[in-house]
Amino acid sequence: MKSRSLTINGYTLPLCARCTGILAGYLFFPFFLILNLNFPLWLGIVLNLPMVIDGWTQKRKYRISNNSLRLSTGIVSGLGQSMIIVSVSQKIISIFL
Ligand SMILES: [Zn+2]
Repeated sequence: MKSRSLTINGYTLPLCARCTGILAGYLFFPFFLILNLNFPLWLGIVLNLPMVIDGWTQKRKYRISNNSLRLSTGIVSGLGQSMIIVSVSQKIISIFL
């Protein structure tokens, strides 16, 4: 849906604002890994809730979201997913070391 994608300087991104935010949130992943940061799994899961609530309440037609909300909750979700991936990766690596 073009209306849900971000347009920058007249160029409309191929992904919707939410997915763009999630991808931007993934950019934290290499830094977490390099800095060897450890996050509790629950924090990564909780950070996904705003996006899930935003998407779910819109799907249920309780309300209509907007692109700034889609983008910001997407970024927070991508950040949370990065935390989950780093925590799980560190647990798997620790089995073999
Ligand atoms: Zn999307």
